[in-house]
Amino acid sequence: MFQEFKHYRERNWGDLEVRAGSLDGVVLTHAHLDHSGWVPRLVRTGFDGPIYCTEATADLLHILWMDAAHIQEEDAAYANRKGFARHFPALPLYDKKDAADALDRLRPVPWAIPHAIGGFKLSFHRVGHILGASCARLEDADTSVLFSGDVGRSTDLLMRPSGPPPAAEFVVLESTYGARSHSEEGLVARLAEVVRETVSRGGVLLIPAFAVGRSQAVLWALHRLQQDGEIPNVPLLLDSPMATNTTELYQEHARELRVPPSAIDGMCASVRDADRRARPPPPGAAGAEPRQHHPDRRLPGPRNARGPPARGRGDRAPSRA
Ligand SMILES: [Zn+2]
Repeated sequence: MFQEFKHYRERNWGDLEVRAGSLDGVVLTHAHLDHSGWVPRLVRTGFDGPIYCTEATADLLHILWMDAAHIQEEDAAYANRKGFARHFPALPLYDKKDAADALDRLRPVPWAIPHAIGGFKLSFHRVGHILGASCARLEDADTSVLFSGDVGRSTDLLMRPSGPPPAAEFVVLESTYGARSHSEEGLVARLAEVVRETVSRGGVLLIPAFAVGRSQAVLWALHRLQQDGEIPNVPLLLDSPMATNTTELYQEHARELRVPPSAIDGMCASVRDADRRARPPPPGAAGAEPRQHHPDRRLPGPRNARGPPARGRGDRAPSRA
């Protein structure tokens, strides 16, 4: 799915060069919407074959595709109400029924076991990145191709580092960040410093974070800092139903992570506590205000602070990306 700039997003409305109904199947490396978000549109336009992915990716897609469809329905309804749509009536790229139809087509495949599809064998192999993320290897009698998907960092706080990739004759390699390199050195220590400074002046620290992958990494860092006594034991509020649901999936699939499942249970317990505190919120509490208003309301306060954005991509529908 195309995201961000409008001239890219408009391509989501274009047709494929082949008929959707003529495709035999779809292979997804992971759930982020920039990789998976157009599939319900493909189903809406006639695709009725199987969609292969890992089990955790399938679980994440139940959250992401339904949320994406909901946002598009809402945005189309809003444009029609306000009358600013270029096309009338404004339509969603796909709706919740299309998302549900796409979910019905998911065929989870176990890790690293070749799965026969027509004349091909498909296998998924770990690449870190986010829960369920894989590289996909396809082979037939003559050749083999490896699609990297998004490859995670070996130093990710939660995801296991990827092993050596399987051998293949051809590799199709993603390069989301091009030639940029990212240093995570000292980031957790810096986070601890900001938390301590903010708490010591009685403020609230807001950390904008994408819901899938980044929110869980930030929560894990904060949870560990509290366990180690590096930061005070203040409540951690996760104010996003999608991030909360995703965090619960991380708990369900904890064996996929590099940290022990019991530790993830501990992290999730503290998040659920915080979540209950936020919903239903006490009058005047942070959870009482719509999420997008948190920065406006909190950041002018001299005691409050905004944490470094926990960047990621691909977990919001394009209209809100
Ligand atoms: Zn991704």
